Amino acid sequence: MRFKVLMAAIRKQWIAERTRCQSCGMPVIYDKKYRPGSPYCSYCHDGESFVKEMGLAEMRERVRGLLEARKAPPLIRFYMHWRLATLRRWRKSPGLR
Ligand SMILES: [Zn+2]
Repeated sequence: MRFKVLMAAIRKQWIAERTRCQSCGMPVIYDKKYRPGSPYCSYCHDGESFVKEMGLAEMRERVRGLLEARKAPPLIRFYMHWRLATLRRWRKSPGLR
């Protein structure tokens, strides 16, 4: 039974990790207005363009503030700081956007 619970938790994390918004890093399963097929959540992208033009530094500030408000552990904050740079919107090659 414990094993099943653990596997369900790992599976959920795995799905969350694979479905992160490619701009802010939020798992889109938490986005109630998410448009299926979009690489971005509804807070970042309205289907036509990004809701707000910003750089990676500004996004990091924003996410840091959100995680702080949710009292996320330091490890998670550190992880997201690093993880943001790997997302499609912030990768160096503009051709991948
Ligand atoms: Zn987003």
